[in-house]
Amino acid sequence: MLKPIKRLGQNFLQDPNTIRKIVDAITPAAEDAVVEIGPGTGALTGLLSQRYHRFSAIEIDPRAAELLRETLPGVDIIEGDVLDVSWADLATRLEAPRLCVIGNLPYYITSQILFSLLDAAPLISEVVIMMQYEVAARLIASPRTKEYGILSVAVQLSATPKLLFPVSRNVFYPRPDVRSAVVRLSFPEKLEEHGGVDPKFLRRLVRMAFNQRRKTLRNSLSALTAELGVALPENVTSRRAEELAPEDFVDLALYLLRTA
Ligand code: SAM
Repeated sequence: MLKPIKRLGQNFLQDPNTIRKIVDAITPAAEDAVVEIGPGTGALTGLLSQRYHRFSAIEIDPRAAELLRETLPGVDIIEGDVLDVSWADLATRLEAPRLCVIGNLPYYITSQILFSLLDAAPLISEVVIMMQYEVAARLIASPRTKEYGILSVAVQLSATPKLLFPVSRNVFYPRPDVRSAVVRLSFPEKLEEHGGVDPKFLRRLVRMAFNQRRKTLRNSLSALTAELGVALPENVTSRRAEELAPEDFVDLALYLLRTA
């Protein structure tokens, strides 16, 4: 057992039933490769590498990477930061059209990992990840709830999220301060093109709208509409970000770009 490093989000899974439940939750296609984020001491890695031959695991802690190379010889362990990984290069190296990604995430970078996977969407088939329960609730949130925000819109525009099950704090060592849940994101085979809208513009619009979520869109988007020299459509001006469904943001982005 390694001495856990808090700064790296190291909370190791101890319970065989939970481990099996998480591993059983992925449904990769035969041609997919499976990639694990943050294998740590290998709680999920042993089972995963037995089941899937096109398999890699990305781990930042050199002590854990060395331990895994000893305990699971022949398994592809990539030592480095998951945020530096090119999913496209990895898919090419693993000779897979798409990747199925799994992991008990380091919680301090959950959102960044999510955005990096969303940006690689055409190459990702499915994601099954454990995260803080409150973040999981945000991914599946509906408009007009307090959990609904940037993450909900971004995720729901690219994938279908499902909260699979909560996980007790007692199955980790050390016991984390927060509650956890496992979430599955299923990606469509064909990338959602959203009417051809520039994804960067769409994300900027969503961010600006939610950065001042209490304000009406007329106010929260005033800098953007001024920059583009356009007015918001009538039916949107007095609404707030949390009232718009993900597809409403797409429609709004298309309207603004076409009218500008
Ligand atoms: N999978 C193991 C388990 O379930 O017991 C460990 C999970 S632990 C919550 C998160 C793991 O992610 C740790 O092993 C940690 O070292 C690793 N990690 C933290 N930051 C990382 C990063 N930026 N890139 C890759 N791995 C990272």
